[in-house]
Amino acid sequence: MNLAIFGATGTIGANTLDVVARHAGRYRVFALTANASAEPLAELCRRYRPRYAVLSAVAEDRVLKRRFSEFGTELLFGSEALEVVARHPETQTVMAAIVGAAGLASTLAAVRAGKRVLLANKEALVMAGPLVMRAASESGAQLLPVDSEHNAVFQCLGSVKNPRRIILTASGGPFRAAAPESLSQVTPEEACAHPNWVMGRKISVDSATMMNKGLEVIEARWLFDLAPERIEVLIHPQSVVHALVEYADGSVIAQLSNPDMRVPIANALAYPERVESGAQSLDLASLKTLSFEKPDLVRFPCLGLAYAALRAGGTAPAILNAANEIAVEAFLAGRLAFTGIAGVIADTLAAVPAGPADDLGEVMEADRQARQAARSRILALAA
Ligand code: NAD
Ligand code: MG
Repeated sequence: MNLAIFGATGTIGANTLDVVARHAGRYRVFALTANASAEPLAELCRRYRPRYAVLSAVAEDRVLKRRFSEFGTELLFGSEALEVVARHPETQTVMAAIVGAAGLASTLAAVRAGKRVLLANKEALVMAGPLVMRAASESGAQLLPVDSEHNAVFQCLGSVKNPRRIILTASGGPFRAAAPESLSQVTPEEACAHPNWVMGRKISVDSATMMNKGLEVIEARWLFDLAPERIEVLIHPQSVVHALVEYADGSVIAQLSNPDMRVPIANALAYPERVESGAQSLDLASLKTLSFEKPDLVRFPCLGLAYAALRAGGTAPAILNAANEIAVEAFLAGRLAFTGIAGVIADTLAAVPAGPADDLGEVMEADRQARQAARSRILALAA
């Protein structure tokens, strides 16, 4: 099977290649992409010999092109090249693992081209859920969730499509039990030190604010076509139960595994079959406890903001997502306090009116306006 990995140099990209390397005959690495990191991408191409590689933030460069050609790889430049690879007739499966809004256009291109799309890039569904889902049903694209909670729901759902409710679990991140008054002093390093998962910096901060779970509620709303009131969140610090699905008869089905992204990645890659992922077997006896509690919306205001944006509809989730990306970037750059993130998002949602999200143009325009509003809010806070 010909596989294109978008965001190959990231955490999900590395975990995907780890699973792929365990099944050399089964998956052919057809394309690998990165934003600007030419050397890490070259190293992956030397090892996996893809037909294409893409550097989406780099302008045409002859020296680099020659270097990649030594691996039998044609190097393409610019973000349009992602869409070319997404639509390529020989691309069969796309791992959509670019982080943030930057992943929307290429994910949508793969969906429109009717590919099998393994979806890690949750922001694409947050921004344009109805558009992506409609495109999938028109093209016949198969959308398989890679986000661990959504992959868990997908596994629990089987052929039944009308559960009473689903529960997404959240670890609560590194500050679940921290004193609220200490949070204003949190550093990027502390926020990125997740207790259970190793992830890229943006999603690590999202986990610390619980915006990650908010984005996941929106992702689940579209992926599984469920009303927001049927999607619940519980804090589960052990990160062993990834999601639970309750049916009309009161039965609850859960999916469990060690917190290792290779589990949902292998599930999506091989679906409907099962393959070795490299993850350790779950040792329940040594775990002793699995605990669950309701999230504290005062400590984690981002979760409430995400539910509100979902209920507001239209471009509100795209505005939420864009404001979050700008606020997280500012926090990581030391320009915004950790506790300022939620305020910037709330202010942006109040400042930018939500409109219909019927086409990509409307979504991208809301994204642009929200980024601008969030940036000026952050500047005003610093002044
Ligand atoms: P990461 O930061 O480790 O990697 C991001 C990848 O995207 C890199 O290859 C980078 O080169 C590429 N990229 C970044 N900006 C880009 C741009 N503007 N244009 C094109 N490419 C760009 O991120 P990650 O942790 O691997 O997460 C990737 C996606 O998967 C995110 O949407 C995240 O929410 C989702 N996800 C991640 C995890 C996890 O455990 N890491 C779990 C669930 C979902
Ligand atoms: Mg997740």
